[in-house]
Amino acid sequence: MTVSINLKDQVAVVTGGTRGIGKAIAIGLAEAGANIALLQRSENKEAKQEIEKLGVKCEIFNCDLNDIDRVRNVIPEVHEKMGSVDILVNNAGIQRRHPAVEFPESDWDEVLNINLKVVWILCQEAGKIMTSQKKGKIINIASLVSFQGGITVPAYTAAKGAVGQLTKALANEWSSQGVNVNAIVPGYIATEMNTALINDPVRSRQILERIPAGRWGSPEDFKGTAVYLASPLSDYVHGHLLAVDGGWLGR
Ligand code: NDP
Repeated sequence: MTVSINLKDQVAVVTGGTRGIGKAIAIGLAEAGANIALLQRSENKEAKQEIEKLGVKCEIFNCDLNDIDRVRNVIPEVHEKMGSVDILVNNAGIQRRHPAVEFPESDWDEVLNINLKVVWILCQEAGKIMTSQKKGKIINIASLVSFQGGITVPAYTAAKGAVGQLTKALANEWSSQGVNVNAIVPGYIATEMNTALINDPVRSRQILERIPAGRWGSPEDFKGTAVYLASPLSDYVHGHLLAVDGGWLGR
């Protein structure tokens, strides 16, 4: 195989593309030629406008991920309107921090729904299309807490641990049908999700000192990995959790 990446005419569905890691991944896939379907709850058109400037198509599909009925029917709608579903990036996620003994049940349910159940339903709906067309790339966004326990984030850890295992479970079923299911494991990335950590000088310094690369990650660090996992270059990569963490897990 000649090494080149061109995702022209592929349709990539991305959740949480309004900002942070999801926005960078959507732009990266568009730079590689893919048309982008952004599943988002807000009217924010920033990502869409940036993507369209790259000369590819981009459509926003209104989808609050708390609305499970909408989550179930949005993938068939993308397929109908954009003609195909070739790539799915399950990026959207939320974080809730409380000591375990005080952790509210409502926060547990919300984190497990958005970070796990929604990922499962979107994988299932995309999987129906991808296994029938014998082609597809699913990229779930896991976390360091898919491997480690974290602290004061029990729901997030439970959900992201399960996302890692779900990635392997689906890869086992679908890899023989031309569908790759893999996950990216971000390290500590400077996004809105980490505002509290970044603004805490002690935690921020402790984290930085433990990152072998000597810096927090940026959303742009995910473009290359996402494009690779969406491309034929990764056709024999299945059920893998690929860390983009500045070396954190290896320490
Ligand atoms: P951000 O908080 O910056 O962005 C989260 C995205 O998810 C936003 O686009 C947000 O949309 C969307 N979203 C959240 N809830 C909903 C909802 N109910 N309906 C629709 N969209 C929703 O997160 P990051 O970019 O930091 O994180 C992206 C992914 O990476 C997440 O899965 C996160 O868990 C994971 N990750 C991040 C790490 C980090 O250090 N940042 C580390 C490890 C994993 P809206 O604009 O509408 O709020």
